[in-house]
Amino acid sequence: MNVKFNLSAINNKICEDTGGENESHKLIVVVRQITLTMLVYTLISCIHTISIQHLEEMGFCLVSFLLFLFIFITSYRFKTFVSYCVLNICILGWIITNVIVYGWNNGVQHFLLTLLVFCFFSKYQYEAAKVAYSIFLFTMRIALYFYCQNNAPLIALDLSNNVIIQIVNSLTVFVSLSLIAYTFSTDTQALEGKLIEYNERLQKQANTDTLTGLFNRRKTIEYLDSLLKSADNQISFCLCDIDFFKKVNDTYGHNIGDEVLKTLSDTFRKELPKDTFISRWGGEEFLLIFPGLNGDETMVALERLRQKVKSIVFDGGIEKFSISLTFGLVEYDYHSDLTTLLKQADEKLYIGKENGRDRIIF
Ligand code: GH3
Ligand code: MG
Ligand code: MG
Repeated sequence: MNVKFNLSAINNKICEDTGGENESHKLIVVVRQITLTMLVYTLISCIHTISIQHLEEMGFCLVSFLLFLFIFITSYRFKTFVSYCVLNICILGWIITNVIVYGWNNGVQHFLLTLLVFCFFSKYQYEAAKVAYSIFLFTMRIALYFYCQNNAPLIALDLSNNVIIQIVNSLTVFVSLSLIAYTFSTDTQALEGKLIEYNERLQKQANTDTLTGLFNRRKTIEYLDSLLKSADNQISFCLCDIDFFKKVNDTYGHNIGDEVLKTLSDTFRKELPKDTFISRWGGEEFLLIFPGLNGDETMVALERLRQKVKSIVFDGGIEKFSISLTFGLVEYDYHSDLTTLLKQADEKLYIGKENGRDRIIF
């Protein structure tokens, strides 16, 4: 429990966001992760050199350790970009010194790859600088190689020590590269997740009517287009309109009118067959689509709905009231286009209005 608590406290400390307003949080975290890796690396090197009693090497490891300790401490004071630059300069200096002192064989030059990857993962948008820095790192590597071809190392390590340092160096490079990739990829994954969620929300907003939550006209046309293209079964369409809705607004106010529209939409969802596509076609006009149902079957569902709607009692404040609906129903004839079908439904709705409302015309 205590260990768990301490680990999370250490993690919180490493992840502390000390950057400026527009600076990436992940970048300073990676700076600290790499610095800590290097601290562990140089500490192990110190212990190793003490154990084999190489005083010169111990001095070099101690200086390196203090250098990375300095970067770690200042990462809480400097701006992220400054810490990032300091880390790069220090590692570069450390690599050059290391190669000059120990030669090419201990593999310390591989740390240039860590700097290269880190540079491209960093969120700064200086693309040209990133390319220039890569070229610089490559040139540095080649220069160090030729230097080693022509100059003997200052400290010649024996074979077993060389192997140990080679392994530790490779391990440290792998660890630092994994930390960079892991930390920045979790960022990308989280961002991707957020983006998918945001897109889904946008899509939903684009397809639905905000007041009622029903599909809007845009989505309905899209749905009808694809439905009619692949229609090999019966489909019925119904335009329905609230009777004397203007009077509801005028008598009880626009807010009560809105409540009526919402209650009505809930009633549609509850009362109509589950495959029904329900949309708000216009102000107080709804388009109901019944895939798989013929006109007679739809008539039964609509009649039930008509009765149900009439039985709802609304509270208008000054008095209770109820409403009715008029329906224009058409059955798909397998050849008419969308415009024709909608026109037919509209004509039937008009006939219903003309003949006293509160009825279904088929
Ligand atoms: P009819 O029986 O002939 O359909 O009469 P009506 O009064 O329902 O028809 P009309 O076209 O004259 O009026 C429709 C009214 O619907 C007018 C408009 O203010 C109202 N309306 C449209 N959209 C909304 C809305 O989102 N909220 C509210 N409260 N009213 C709306
Ligand atoms: Mg109306
Ligand atoms: Mg109308």
